[in-house]
Amino acid sequence: MSLKAVFFDVDGTLAETERDGHRVAFNQAFAALGVPIEWSVEEYGAWLAVTGGKERIRAYCDRHPEVGEIDDALIERIHLEKVAAYRRIVESGGIVLRPGVARLIEELRSCGVVMGITTTTMLDSLDVLLSVEIGPHWEEIFAVVGAGDVVPKKKPDPAIYSWALGALGAASSEVVAVEDSRNGLLAATGAGIATLVTPSYYTAGEDFSEASLVADGLGDPGKESRWRGRDNASGEGLVTQGVLASILS
Ligand SMILES: [Mg+2]
Repeated sequence: MSLKAVFFDVDGTLAETERDGHRVAFNQAFAALGVPIEWSVEEYGAWLAVTGGKERIRAYCDRHPEVGEIDDALIERIHLEKVAAYRRIVESGGIVLRPGVARLIEELRSCGVVMGITTTTMLDSLDVLLSVEIGPHWEEIFAVVGAGDVVPKKKPDPAIYSWALGALGAASSEVVAVEDSRNGLLAATGAGIATLVTPSYYTAGEDFSEASLVADGLGDPGKESRWRGRDNASGEGLVTQGVLASILS
């Protein structure tokens, strides 16, 4: 079986969007609206367990009554401000692709391997990141883009991966997924897709035992990555099309 397609998660996998982007954007929105909250890198990591921006703010305020009265209308304003702040951060170069991402995308493209996006992040956040970091033609590079609410069930449910396989007309045995978190890994393997995990800042300690390969990153020339496979074989080097083909289910 040859490698037909590679599906990429976005947050944490293509870039450290949570720590350097979404967290900073929340803090800028809180400050702009006079809300006395400022999330440290560590504290934000704990609140990431609450999925969804508005839901995260509500859960935090419920736990911290000293913040004061925060009604739904204010949460809506905070969220709108946060979306705008995230866009400014990305447009000013505050978020960059992780090492090796641009290299691997270019290699897969030149080899004719189809690429897809499998994320539940909002399309607006995805669009600004890829427009700035890859270019305005990014939608031509990815044959399928699963983002936002394209499926109702979020990861770790495999729905987003099943949707992408169907949209592409591919079998799971022809596809490899690249993820950074246990939730993403479970979503991909739940759809029968062999998965490479490149852990990110907030997911480094998670259990990736279902992964076909775990690498500390995709690697760029001169900055090779360390990786370990399902059989604990260790290697070192760049994650290439050949490496991804070798882990097909
Ligand atoms: Mg992720």
